[in-house]
Amino acid sequence: MLVANRGEIAVRVIRACRTAGLQAVAVYSDADREARHVALADATAHIGPAPARESYLSIPRLLAAARETGCGAVHPGYGFLSENADFARAVEKAGMIWIGPPPEAMEAMGSKISAREKMRAAGVPVVPGALIEPSEEHREITSSGEEVGARGAARRVGSPHPATSGTFEEIPSSVLSLGFPVVVKASAGGGGKGMRIVRDAASFSEAMISCRREAVAAFGDGTVYVEKYLSSPRHIEVQVFGDTHGNVVALGERECSLQRRHQKVIEECPSSAVTPELRARLQSAACDAARAVGYVNAGTVEFLLEPSGRFYFLEMNTRLQVEHPVTEEAFGVDLVALQLRVAAGEPLPELPSAPSAHAIEARVYAEDPDAGFLPQAGRLLAWVEPSGPGVRVDSGVTAGGEVDVHYDPLLAKIVAKGRDREEARKRLAGALGETIALGVTTNLSWLKRLLEAAPVVRGELHTGLVETLSLPALPPPPDEVFEAAAWVLSRAASEPGGRPARGALSSPFEGRFRMGGA
Ligand code: ADP
Repeated sequence: MLVANRGEIAVRVIRACRTAGLQAVAVYSDADREARHVALADATAHIGPAPARESYLSIPRLLAAARETGCGAVHPGYGFLSENADFARAVEKAGMIWIGPPPEAMEAMGSKISAREKMRAAGVPVVPGALIEPSEEHREITSSGEEVGARGAARRVGSPHPATSGTFEEIPSSVLSLGFPVVVKASAGGGGKGMRIVRDAASFSEAMISCRREAVAAFGDGTVYVEKYLSSPRHIEVQVFGDTHGNVVALGERECSLQRRHQKVIEECPSSAVTPELRARLQSAACDAARAVGYVNAGTVEFLLEPSGRFYFLEMNTRLQVEHPVTEEAFGVDLVALQLRVAAGEPLPELPSAPSAHAIEARVYAEDPDAGFLPQAGRLLAWVEPSGPGVRVDSGVTAGGEVDVHYDPLLAKIVAKGRDREEARKRLAGALGETIALGVTTNLSWLKRLLEAAPVVRGELHTGLVETLSLPALPPPPDEVFEAAAWVLSRAASEPGGRPARGALSSPFEGRFRMGGA
């Protein structure tokens, strides 16, 4: 099987191949010759230079690699080409098995506008919103000469919220009827890109223009629409699975409300806000959503949940999700193994109907929380992963490896499970404190402080919470950090080129150092 990805997800899929008795082929760019996923695979294929467009995003190069290594299947991981229907079709046309949903289901959910329409038709509640067609643009956008046409009447999508006061002649009435704040979204958007929150009428026009611009630049499609911006909802998503025998099941929910700039940082399963009754309703809506598009394999239906218990469809991700391990740990299932079985035509086995543990995941990024979370790159001089009861680490890096500017700065996911939320939370905070990363600044300490913030401890979460918290200042590093750094520097001084060799630095740290996120 070709693993058409890199980093921790490639490592995760390679492990699943081993369990399934399949041989895994890793692909790598110039920047990844010494990467961990390459070292772990049974065979490897070089696919091009470092820029993803010329390697991990190149369909011809990935297909050539699969052919040359005699692969019979392709797993796309997540990110890169995982939601690209053209790639799925090309894999199937080449006579190989695509480990993912049918391309038609990917397309149906690929445009947020068409996904909303399909969900409404299937009786799944969607966030109230308004379509802004090119003929219905705001006057200022038209006069700015940007790719838009004449104005007309706007069409309403979803159930309207009452309008706020004021008259805003130039803004379509369907937008006004939602009431501010609203969010302008790119239909092709994803990964937090192509989204603008608009708090009042005066900023609507500017938000439309900049959202459109960003959408064209990032996705080559400037279609945007408007949604009611819900105040302080929770992000609750449901893991669904379909097989080729017509079965669709849901495996509980994940709470992903701890976000920074609409990007998830800590996820958990189950959600402390979801009762068995609400879980049943969420799962039923998610299965309806999946059935409406003929879904097969693993997918995630995302909802926003209001304190009242009302929830609305947000989008469906037609792939494995970064945060899938919390479902695996809470339900005791291997989702990637299930993906392989379903892709081989097997029916879904009997699956647990409720979680038997609580699991929380933290995303460890190479980024500097004290410098606006700026992504960091460079050589990881030391990397020591935590362990202990209930601790799982899905990582894509090794000591001495390079963190490259060309790729997502996700280094690892640290997951802890416990009998209940508090046990899982304490285990995760402990594991984050034990993790050692030297050479590249990470968000380890920030994650640990976030997990220990009072509302997080109480489980009182919402998607805007992180921005409102002022986390305690970093405590001064313990002496061990200085000792470790001195040791790294002395090793470096004795190496040719002044840099320690790959892998040379990990073992002496094992068990020697405990620090609050170096
Ligand atoms: P992306 O595809 O870029 O991930 P999503 O539509 O999934 O974007 O939204 C990502 C996050 O943005 C959500 O989890 C939520 O925090 C916030 N968000 C999106 N739409 C709304 C909305 N209508 N009201 C409130 N928050 C929203």
